[in-house]
Amino acid sequence: MRVFFLDQSGKPGGAELCLIDIAKPYGNSALVGLFADGPFKDLLQQNHIPVEVLATQAIQVRKESSLVQGLKSLVQLAPLITKVIKIAHEYDLIYANTQKALVVGALASFFSRRPLVYHLHDILSKEHFSQTNLHIAVNLANRFASLVIANSQASKIAFVQAGGRPDIIEVVYNGFETKKYQTDESDINKLQQQLGLQGKFVVGHFSRLAPWKGQHILIDALAKCPPEVTAILMGDALFGEQDYVQQLHRQVAELGLENRVKFLGFRSDIPQLMAACDLVAHTSISPEPFGRVIVEAMLCGKPVVAPKAGGVMELVEHGLNGFLMTPGEPHELAQIIITCLQETEITATIANNAQTSATRRFDVAIINQQIAQLLSHITSA
Ligand code: UDP
Repeated sequence: MRVFFLDQSGKPGGAELCLIDIAKPYGNSALVGLFADGPFKDLLQQNHIPVEVLATQAIQVRKESSLVQGLKSLVQLAPLITKVIKIAHEYDLIYANTQKALVVGALASFFSRRPLVYHLHDILSKEHFSQTNLHIAVNLANRFASLVIANSQASKIAFVQAGGRPDIIEVVYNGFETKKYQTDESDINKLQQQLGLQGKFVVGHFSRLAPWKGQHILIDALAKCPPEVTAILMGDALFGEQDYVQQLHRQVAELGLENRVKFLGFRSDIPQLMAACDLVAHTSISPEPFGRVIVEAMLCGKPVVAPKAGGVMELVEHGLNGFLMTPGEPHELAQIIITCLQETEITATIANNAQTSATRRFDVAIINQQIAQLLSHITSA
């Protein structure tokens, strides 16, 4: 099957990293069309996935855009849409991986008469999107998509609540190459040495820097923990959240935590960094659609704490394979960090349980089979 994937981003967020795993098995039968240049293109190339940057100009519309802004950007999109329609004729299926890709993919699907799949990586709610963008996403999916793949039950429920058709949506969790998360102990020791982490209790945070990802909650919690507790924060401000980055640095300075918090920027050695941590914290203050970081921590055999909301509830059972906290509550987070610091045996058992069940549940080969089956139903219909 020849699949034409579309993604709006030049930067590798969770949806883009997931797309790499989905597109890989198709080899040269796939093409990923991007609407922006950037490091995501390089990552696709490193994974031998054919890629083409289709837009020469940044698309202005944002998650919170109004109808007028949306219409203006549609005019701006005309050359891109024309290009996508032309390429789509050479493929069996259009696979839109983001919202703007859905807009372009829907029109291309109509004109090229190729079926459209929309991979929904978001919780379509007013907390995350403007009313206009919600309407556009749901109506285009309802009208043009043969299939919507939701990354969790939480994303599926939000789609249906926003007016999405329940008969076209299926839940498929993100898949992971589980072997990638088995790391070499000597590499980890070296990394700990380089980062000055020896003898510390290290809490890792692995999300792009954005207010809703709640890095400030972890920093607040840290101030309530014993001094050997240190945090390392991986990730960049992918979508221009520079004010938040400055706010985080100010918060660290005000709390006198300069020696206990390290910002490491965007990193590609996630399994090694996770292995160098004692606990991975996920602190989103709005419901997380899935939370790749949580599964990755589990696969590394590391305990994970995450907020009780959204897709996280489908991944973590408190006290069995991880810890759940009330979103936005640094006191509770601090308490869980202290429990992990003190109750090492129970915590290790929880992390081992998590590793075993995550390896079974999220194996990329099985997840890709599920997707392949869904796609074959569509193209044979
Ligand atoms: N990530 C990364 N480098 C970093 C920080 C994060 O590769 O420095 C990866 C992380 O391992 C995860 C993804 O970015 O696979 C984030 O996905 P998640 O679902 O947690 O959040 P999203 O970005 O989709 O909101």
